[in-house]
Amino acid sequence: MVRICGWIVRLKVVGRVAITEVVTDLYNKPVVVAVKSDRDLELFSKVKDLPIGTAVCIDGEVSPEQRSKRGVEYLAKDIRIYAKPSESMPVDLVGKVPALLDTRIKYRYLLIRNPVERSIIKIRALVLKLAREFLENRGFIEVHTPKIVAAGAEGGATLFQVKYFESNAYLSQSPQLYKQMLMTSFSKVYEITPYFRAEKFNTKRHLNESWGIDVEQGFIDSEEDVMKTLEELVAYIVNGVIERAPEELELLGVEARPLSTPFKRIDFREAVELLMNRGLEIPEGEDLSEAAERELGSIMAEKNCEAYFIKKFPWTSAGFYYMRDEEGFTARKFDLDYKGLEVASGGQREHRYEKLVESLKLKGLSPSDFEYYLEAFKYGMPPHGGFGLGVERLLMSLLNLDNIRLTTVFVRDRTRLTP
Ligand code: ATP
Ligand code: MG
Repeated sequence: MVRICGWIVRLKVVGRVAITEVVTDLYNKPVVVAVKSDRDLELFSKVKDLPIGTAVCIDGEVSPEQRSKRGVEYLAKDIRIYAKPSESMPVDLVGKVPALLDTRIKYRYLLIRNPVERSIIKIRALVLKLAREFLENRGFIEVHTPKIVAAGAEGGATLFQVKYFESNAYLSQSPQLYKQMLMTSFSKVYEITPYFRAEKFNTKRHLNESWGIDVEQGFIDSEEDVMKTLEELVAYIVNGVIERAPEELELLGVEARPLSTPFKRIDFREAVELLMNRGLEIPEGEDLSEAAERELGSIMAEKNCEAYFIKKFPWTSAGFYYMRDEEGFTARKFDLDYKGLEVASGGQREHRYEKLVESLKLKGLSPSDFEYYLEAFKYGMPPHGGFGLGVERLLMSLLNLDNIRLTTVFVRDRTRLTP
């Protein structure tokens, strides 16, 4: 006999039979228990009026006969009732009445009792597990960098300010500067971390609190070494999800295609040309817009390519810490796009002290604000590079979700600070 615990999501009484469906951690589909009054009147009376949402544990075993398509059938000896809801469910968990996005986000913690919604969160956990597995196997060391910081890496406009005793501080928008500082003593590090970005706009692909898989590696020859790590990591994650979560993918109706490495690489200039041929206007020296990224996604899809790198971004669109190529116009920066969405950015960093100071000044930043960071470049900083891979972006593309908010249980965006 085993005990399985969970929540009643459906209950139907037909004549003398009560059929309950209980969501548990054990299976993707609910456990189905039929209780017949002529077999066990006591159990039948206990079950027949239970409200949807009740938390129960079932003592019993898997039925030798599995006839229900709706879930795993159990023969119950007893059902223990732990908590009945005091109010009716605010959302329909069976999904017959589709909820508005707003309601869906508010009650996501309840909605994930539904096997489909639940699958997204389970795959999210699997993505992170696979990432750790891959990076650990490759000898990367997990590190933690501060989330309360004095300066930002990606520019002042998107920083959340917090009071830090007598002074002002910010929430970290990226572990960039710290993971680089660690390159003075480790050659391979990674961090799985939240990013906080005060981007005011409300888009389908931005959150104000999101998670990244951040990697930095030293003693590299060029950004190609970093791209190799990233493409192999992403292929490991995507192929791992396909292999280990086929049921979840099926529940979500997602037919994910395995990725093989190496990914295709195109230069930023080439991408611009392809886009201009399609009639898009691309402003000189700027990052690609969302529309441009999407269009490039469909151009690449026509070539049967879902994941691809864009290399050699204009220096004007890159962070100060990227290495500039000799002629000064391009940075050793790349993006990884997956189905027309940027999922990661990375590149080779500037490791030479004088050049780094020069870059800061060129970007209109004051070297004195970055003193603690710059100092690290005085004590034997090797050539290095890395990337930040967005967890929610990767999930969004992999699962073909049209809104990034669906990749997480508790959303932080322009209007949501609760739940
Ligand atoms: P975008 O241009 O799409 O706003 P970004 O270039 O500013 O993104 P990066 O600084 O390159 O973002 O951050 C590394 C990765 O983190 C991105 O490629 C993306 O996957 C993810 N990311 C960045 N900002 C957000 C955000 N606001 N919400 C969700 N994911 C994000
Ligand atoms: Mg980017």
